[in-house]
Order: sequence, then structure tokens, then C-alpha cells
Amino acid sequence: MADAARGATAAAGPRDTPGETVLAVRDLVKHYPLTQGVVLRKQIGAVRAVDGVSFDLAGGETLGIVGESGCGKSTVAKLLVSLERPTSGQILYRGEDISKLSGRALKAVRRNIQMVFQDPYTSLNPRMTVGDIIGEPFEIHPEVAPKGDRRRKVQELLDVVGLNPEYINRYPHQFSGGQRQRIGIARGLALNPEVIVADEPVSALDVSVQAQVINLMERLQRDFGLSYIFIAHDLSVVRHISDRVGVMYLGKIVELGTDTEIYEHPTHPYTQALLSAVPVPDPELSNRRERIILTGDVPSPADPPSGCRFRTRCFKAEERCALEVPPLAVPAVYRYAEGPAHHDSACFFAEDRPAVTSHPGEPPQH
Ligand code: ADP
Ligand code: MG
Repeated sequence: MADAARGATAAAGPRDTPGETVLAVRDLVKHYPLTQGVVLRKQIGAVRAVDGVSFDLAGGETLGIVGESGCGKSTVAKLLVSLERPTSGQILYRGEDISKLSGRALKAVRRNIQMVFQDPYTSLNPRMTVGDIIGEPFEIHPEVAPKGDRRRKVQELLDVVGLNPEYINRYPHQFSGGQRQRIGIARGLALNPEVIVADEPVSALDVSVQAQVINLMERLQRDFGLSYIFIAHDLSVVRHISDRVGVMYLGKIVELGTDTEIYEHPTHPYTQALLSAVPVPDPELSNRRERIILTGDVPSPADPPSGCRFRTRCFKAEERCALEVPPLAVPAVYRYAEGPAHHDSACFFAEDRPAVTSHPGEPPQH
């Protein structure tokens, strides 16, 4: 399969050494104007969907991004693949800020960063054959596959994602959810990208099928040297596939570290709360574990709390949290300490243990 797979994608030359930074995001901001009135559309504020996000993505690496619905994950994804323009900040692809490109330069860069969408039921045009869906990127980038060669390339892509190449003339409704997501992945691979941004690629699938799609994505990553941004709202989904994980809350990353650090030594109260809600198979462990119940709703991104955005729901919040924004950095108490590798956390009171009671009481009012 490997040879066919390689043939299926455009010759892009050898990938760079793994570990090199492919994508660097710096202080990325996306505000959507909030308007009133249909005709005059007076701006009355802004939805701060993404509000200062920074991270690096290395060659061959998977960065998982998790957080509750509405925290800005899909907006980050759309910014990375240039479906949206940032309000401010930089998206550096191999050192070049692509967020300000347009025309041919943008088109050339877009080829390298492709998206796989969340819902394979709605993201595939029901009136197009699978062959046309997977081959559509070639219409925009004919240089990747001359017309006479497209059918063969699409069949190879079907084979690469584990589908029968003879299905090329079928329509999306003739496939299961898992198969449709394989079609979405084949389409994402068509232009031989370096980076795939997968926005909740398995969230719409049955649990039994999720693992198959994740396994496929891991195999493709090895075969093609892909880097992934893998988005999910559930921490347990990204654990297996991610090398590092970023936890988002209300438009910001609140904790960022290797999978082991995030899952075994979470330091941010929000990560600790999310992890305490992940079911564990061992019933004894499950009973001993303290569950952190978050009180209150996620505040509106149009009017986020001052200081730390999580403070209104945090069991550790103190006055300082309302006055200052905690930076995403290695917590001072760990900077020179022994022990597990330290990682970035945006909390003044970051601690390497779920320092929590099962009755957190009312969150402080500021
Ligand atoms: P997630 O993918 O984490 O669920 P999104 O990035 O989709 O979050 O949305 C983040 C916030 O931005 C939400 O409050 C959402 O309602 C808002 N939002 C997203 N897209 C738009 C848009 N085009 N116009 C206005 N608000 C938007
Ligand atoms: Mg989303």
C-alpha cells in the first residue's frame, strides 16, 4: 500500500526532519463583530471567539486541542486553514506569516494545510460522487493531478484510506459514518499537505468506529510524515493520538504540555476538573477519585470575566484572579523544582495535583 499511497499524492520532495517547527501561532485573535439592526448594522460589541492563542506544531507531531463547546476550537481551525482571517496575531507556516497573504501566494500555502471536518454527514455534498468529492481539490490545484490522471489518483486515495477503489462512482449516502469520514480524510490528503487540521473528526461517530478512524489517521501520519492539529471536546478522545495537548477555555489556552503531563500532572484547575469527569474503567480507582464539579455556566465570549476567565467557576479563585490575567507559562513554583517535566499553565495557583474537595462550594463572587 505504501507505494500506491505515495504515488497517490503529489511529489512534494522529502519531508524535513521531524521536530522542526512547521506551524507557529502567535497571539492569535478572532473577534466577530456583534451588530444590532438589519440595515445599518451598528456594532455593539464583539464575540471574542479566539483571544490570544499561541502554540507551535512540529513536523510529524500531533497537537490535541480540547475544550467545551463554544471555547473557540473551530475558529482556531478555520484561521489555520485560512477560511477566516484573524483580527490580529500571526500564523507562521515555516516562518512566513500566512495570515496576511492573498491571491496566488495564499493559494500555494493553503495546499499544505488542509482541514478534515467534524460531521461527515453534512460536510460531503450528497449530489456529488465520491470520486468528484475526493478529486475536487484538483480543480483548484490542477498542477497536482492533470485531468487524465485524476481518476487513478482518486482510486489510490480510496485505497490509502481503506476503501474499495471501485466505490469511486457511489454517493455519500451509500456509506456508513466511518466510511464517510474516510472519504473526508482522502479529500484532505489529495493535495499531499504537510499539516491536517482535524476539527472533531470522530465526534459524530459511534465509539466503536472512532478508534478505527483514529488508527487510520495515525497510520497516515507515519506514512506521509503529517503533522496534525486534532480537535475534540473530550479529553479522552485526544489522549491516544496526541503528543501534546492544549486545553482551551473561553478563547484562550489555559494549559499546554505533553500528553503525560496534562493527563497525569494537570496543574490548571480547569484541566483538573475536566479530567475528574473522564470515566475510568477501574471501579475502585473511580470511587477513590475526587470529582470536581464545576458550578455555573461558561460566561459569554462577548463579555468575558476580567482577569482570569475561568475564575467565576474556579474553586481556587482569589481576588488577584479578577485583577490580572494569568500568563500561559511554567508556574513559578515549578520552574526550578525537581520532578516531572513542567509545562505551561495559565493559573496563579497552579499545582501538580487535584487539590480539591468533592464539595467545592460556591465560587467566589468578584
Ligand atoms: P467550538 O468549536 O469550541 O465549539 P467556535 O470556534 O465554533 O467554538 O465558537 C466560538 C465562539 O465564537 C462561540 O461563542 C460562537 O458562537 C462564536 N462564533 C463562531 N463563529 C462565529 C461567527 N461567524 N459569527 C459570530 N460568532 C461566531
Ligand atoms: Mg467546533
